Amino acid sequence: MTEDVPVRIRPEIAALPPYRQGKQAGADAFKLSSNENPYEPLPAVVESLRRTVGVNRYPDATAARLRQRLGERFGVQPDEVHIGAGSVSILSQLMLAAAGPGDEVVYAWRSFEAYPGLVLIAGATPVEVPLTADARHDLDAMAAAVTERTRAVIVCSPNNPTGPIVTQAEFDTFLAKIPRDLLVVLDEAYAEFVTDPGAVDGLVKLGRDDHPNVVVLRTFSKAYGLAGLRVGYAIGHRRILDAARATAVPLSVTAQSEEAALASLDAEAELLARVRTIGERRDRLAAALRAQGWDIPVAQGNFVWLRTGAQTMDVAARFEEGGCIVRPFAGDGIRISVGEEESVDRVLRIAQTVVGGLAEGRAGGRLA
Ligand SMILES: *Cc1c(COP(=O)(O)O)cnc(C)c1O
Repeated sequence: MTEDVPVRIRPEIAALPPYRQGKQAGADAFKLSSNENPYEPLPAVVESLRRTVGVNRYPDATAARLRQRLGERFGVQPDEVHIGAGSVSILSQLMLAAAGPGDEVVYAWRSFEAYPGLVLIAGATPVEVPLTADARHDLDAMAAAVTERTRAVIVCSPNNPTGPIVTQAEFDTFLAKIPRDLLVVLDEAYAEFVTDPGAVDGLVKLGRDDHPNVVVLRTFSKAYGLAGLRVGYAIGHRRILDAARATAVPLSVTAQSEEAALASLDAEAELLARVRTIGERRDRLAAALRAQGWDIPVAQGNFVWLRTGAQTMDVAARFEEGGCIVRPFAGDGIRISVGEEESVDRVLRIAQTVVGGLAEGRAGGRLA
């Protein structure tokens, strides 16, 4: 039963589904529903939180030290870096800055579940371009979907929740086709997990001088294991980032998150070794699932995608009964995060029991 809202709400907001987080796992279940990093924070990161005193004071509104550090790291000026309380916050700011009523925002679908809501909240209209049969962005179709009403395009590589990357060549071709004054947001939340050398890398290969319309989003939530602290960043043209800064809720990046991000950059070698371990675990998991008969798209993030179609909610319930909390998208598929080493066998055991009962074409689709 839906309850009436006691005040007048913008109709497009009232129609939005309430935010649903991945289920919290019971004590003996693996939580594989939110693409979190399974490792405990490094002692140095915990220590950085202890060092951060003065919670009676507001944080530095511009996170200047972290911007300076990331600027040095990526060879850009500090004002070409913008810090947000998670990169989702920055995406929200960019949508508010660029797109309003009557405007359109193009993105692939299925992709990150936050995209439609952020576009609608800005008052703009989502234009969803279906993924290809192998669950990749169809960048030709996305370029073709751009009209004079389009104010932004979001490209997600690797794509959450399906897993494949966009290649650098595909991205370059795409950029050449679209207007040079159209905002392109390249969401690289899982960039550190990518092992395909052909993948787009917004921070290494992209000539920002050639394409000042591209803003790259990265986050400390996934590879660096700081999801709970909320800190992400954007790199792009200072004037675009100024617009994002203008729409930001002030002071939402805490001193603790800035400090922990700096400590994580200090400990980067150790953290990226963990990321490599997760990447190997992902490859092992995907290969074992394929050997069971699952049709798993290329997995380049810290998750795999099961095409379960109409059986999605039933299959998700089987995983839950077996002690694995996964993320189902009703009618479509299930995203399973690469978690603790011990979670792999459990996922595989459950997957084996359901793969035989899948509707035709869901498993082993590549054989057709
Ligand atoms: C997790 C994720 C983000 C970032 O999340 P934050 O915690 O807000 O930094 C952004 N984009 C995609 C596609 C993600 O999966």
